Amino acid sequence: MSLLDRFVVASLPVIPKSLIRVVASKYIAGEKLDDAVRVVKGLNARGMKATIDVLGEFVSDPAQATHDIEAYLKLFDAIVEHKLETGVSVKLTAVGLSIDPQLARRNLKLLLDAAASHNVFVRIDMEDSPYTTETLAIYEEFRAQHKLGIVVQAYLKRTSDDVKRLMDNGKTNFRLCKGIYVEPESIAFKDRSEIQENYLKLLDQMLSGGAQVGIATHDRYLVEQSEKMVKAKGTSQKDYEFQMLLGVLPSLRDEVVARGHRMRIYVPFGDAWYGYSTRRLKENPQIAGYVFKGMLGIR
Ligand SMILES: Cc1cc2nc3c(=O)[nH]c(=O)nc-3n(C[C@H](O)[C@H](O)[C@H](O)COP(=O)(O)OP(=O)(O)OC[C@H]3O[C@@H](n4cnc5c(N)ncnc54)[C@H](O)[C@@H]3O)c2cc1C
Repeated sequence: MSLLDRFVVASLPVIPKSLIRVVASKYIAGEKLDDAVRVVKGLNARGMKATIDVLGEFVSDPAQATHDIEAYLKLFDAIVEHKLETGVSVKLTAVGLSIDPQLARRNLKLLLDAAASHNVFVRIDMEDSPYTTETLAIYEEFRAQHKLGIVVQAYLKRTSDDVKRLMDNGKTNFRLCKGIYVEPESIAFKDRSEIQENYLKLLDQMLSGGAQVGIATHDRYLVEQSEKMVKAKGTSQKDYEFQMLLGVLPSLRDEVVARGHRMRIYVPFGDAWYGYSTRRLKENPQIAGYVFKGMLGIR
């Protein structure tokens, strides 16, 4: 990342929210449910599936967690009404984990019961390390009764042990990603090539053990190595798919689809867009250019 990009990343907290919103809009379907429906219909028409995330995280007020659950219930109705080819993704801190783990469990149960009655697949996103153990424990408690997937992060040193335990205890549906939060060196790999190496080791562990895997990355090296791995192992199409984020490297996404792999796009929507958007912007190698274009009103 250039010096200018670093400067822009460091300045994000003081950049006006209105400007962040303009430059981050490519990563978000919009604020309304209708926006998510429109974007997912477009993706479905082009042969891609989706997973919809109602934006929100780290809620500190139980009423906000209830509000988030209600948004998911409306989303399930819309998925059925519009026959969308999509699952949903949920962050446990959006439904109360940062307030009280028991509240998160009660809310998740409501969400999962409604998802089951609408036949919608739910995946629990993985957040930062203070929540890893509890998130995995909640996943294990609920997965016997519900169609449920989990996310693991290749940058965490513990992940191989977590994957082994989850797979020893039952059929597991993983999304494998690098991880996006800033974690201490004591628990996380920091070096790009070390993270890549661990990513491929984990993918091998998952596929060899018969798990289902969402290969979530925009890293061309990892995409190509993963393609080689599924081919070499003869992994069935039903046991893996690629996953990418809305607005990130659509050219790579289209290449992967053209090579015949299944692709699912993560589609966030809602008014709590700030935290998600700033994380995305920090990962954007051209962040300075986007911010300056935004300041000049160029889209
Ligand atoms: C479907 C999906 C779900 C995810 N869920 C989670 C989750 O639950 N928990 C979690 O911690 N993380 C999650 N992530 C984020 C993930 O952990 C990484 O932070 C993110 O995907 C970037 O890593 P990468 O593998 O794409 O590789 P990188 O090396 O970061 O990126 C590869 C290339 O992609 C391009 N690129 C990446 N980001 C951007 C951007 N914002 N704008 C423009 N270009 C970009 C660049 O060209 C870059 O060189 C998810 C990612 C995906 C794809």
